[in-house]
Amino acid sequence: MSRKPIIAGNWKMHNNCNQTVELIEGLKNELKSKDMSNLPEVVIAPVFTSLYVAREELDKCGCQKIKLAAQNCYYEPKGAFTGEISLDMLKDFNLTYVIIGHSERRQYFGETDEMINKKAHAILENGMLPIICCGETLEQREQGVTDSHIQNQITKALEGISNEDCAKCIIAYEPIWAIGTGKTCDSNEANRVIKMIRNTVKALKGEMAANSIRILYGGSVKPETIEEQMAQSDIDGALVGGASLKAESFVKIVEGASSKVMA
Ligand code: PEP
Repeated sequence: MSRKPIIAGNWKMHNNCNQTVELIEGLKNELKSKDMSNLPEVVIAPVFTSLYVAREELDKCGCQKIKLAAQNCYYEPKGAFTGEISLDMLKDFNLTYVIIGHSERRQYFGETDEMINKKAHAILENGMLPIICCGETLEQREQGVTDSHIQNQITKALEGISNEDCAKCIIAYEPIWAIGTGKTCDSNEANRVIKMIRNTVKALKGEMAANSIRILYGGSVKPETIEEQMAQSDIDGALVGGASLKAESFVKIVEGASSKVMA
């Protein structure tokens, strides 16, 4: 089963509108000389306030190959939810993906597994695809509960989602202790956890969904680490934070994943 690799840049709370345009111009310049047919799917996730200019800039430069994602959403369609953004509103930007359940949202903003499940349903109902993040803390790893914790997160996130829809979703395994710390998870261990996630999907949603769903690794991915990570059997790409904020390093990561596109 061949799964198209994805390199997704999570810009977090960085880049106002001008900086967003500059970074997209930088990506466009870096990508200009590359053969796009051999590159993985490329995704960027700017802040909500930059989505409009990002869409404009991508359309203007003919960069439709760079797909756009939001970093969050709210599951209710509209109403008295001050400060929230619905999927119907996000549709305006022709997004492909919405990131949900990032550990920073779980940790700082109280996002629960139940909310993540509701968001996943709303995203799919609105014609977009969720990038569902999961991962363990260092404490959970040291206590030996990594696998059960992640199985629980995935089971709850996918509750009520059909096997066909599940096949199209993206999961990002992001050990929390590796996010923004410069420490990457050993590639063999990341692959072991990702295989375990795939087996969990198989038990819940069947073989077709398990073989089709793309599962990314995230946590201090850099140009120097990507080739080894992509050489693993079950790692289908990367969710990249810090290294996605510079066009040069992000495009090096994109190129580093291209060997798997041709394989
Ligand atoms: C992330 O924000 O999802 C992430 C993996 O960040 P970093 O690459 O900076 O560790």
